Amino acid sequence: MEVKMLEGKVALVTGAGRGIGKQIALTLAGRGADIAVNYNGSRERAEETAEQIRALGRRAEIYQCSVGDYEACAEMVKQVLADFGRVDILVNNAGITRDNLVAGMKEADFDQVIDTNLKGTFNTIRHLYRNFLKLRGGRIINLSSVSGILGNAGQANYAASKAGVIGLTKSVARELAARNVTVNAVAPGYISTDMTAAMPEEARKEVLSRIPLKREGRPEDVAELVAFLASDAASYITGQVISVDGGMAI
Ligand code: NDP
Repeated sequence: MEVKMLEGKVALVTGAGRGIGKQIALTLAGRGADIAVNYNGSRERAEETAEQIRALGRRAEIYQCSVGDYEACAEMVKQVLADFGRVDILVNNAGITRDNLVAGMKEADFDQVIDTNLKGTFNTIRHLYRNFLKLRGGRIINLSSVSGILGNAGQANYAASKAGVIGLTKSVARELAARNVTVNAVAPGYISTDMTAAMPEEARKEVLSRIPLKREGRPEDVAELVAFLASDAASYITGQVISVDGGMAI
């Protein structure tokens, strides 16, 4: 039988209607956590995720909010706290790409990516800060990327947002350490989701050639790491960036 390492915990997972976020939500629920499922545009997918969580015997509620919107995020967090009482585990997974070489990159493409990926991560942390201070414990896990570590031609906006997430993670880890809250980033490489399905075949082959383990990652590969970081077993790990990338960033 699977060990319920997260029994009694409440997790808020952003962008949990599909992709990596959905798998994180299901994996955390499988380990015993109740889940607040955030989504932006994919209401039906979020409802499906919530149904699957309930089928695992856990509580799930869905919350529409664009994480880059400071006020909307405040409202969401208020509602989540009213429904669940507290948040023990915050997973900042919501993210977008708007790829282009800098020469052709529109200002809006830069701003939207920073707003969602970096400011969105700040927003949820900001609004849950007091929750974590009161808990004197808890976990914050932010999705960075191999692009935020190595940089990537055609992803200046995305790589900057994900490098920003690393700086944010390390700073908040230092701020909240005295309250026993750990804050870590996970940096996936190439994971099969809608995000990577949009890639042209040539680009996909090129990326695969740069993966030492010679395969694409699966959402489960990321979710297992997140579940570990969320557990008591990871209580002495904070301020770290852990890659789950088949060796891309070696
Ligand atoms: P997908 O494109 O498959 O899914 C994106 C998710 O983010 C959706 O659930 C979407 O919700 C949500 N989202 C987007 N914008 C917002 C917003 N403004 N507010 C709230 N939610 C939002 O992406 P992945 O699952 O592949 O990626 C998940 C995370 O992992 C991202 O942060 C990504 O940068 C990161 N990552 C992914 C890699 C990969 O290879 N796939 C590699 C490295 C990092 P909705 O549909 O409801 O709008």
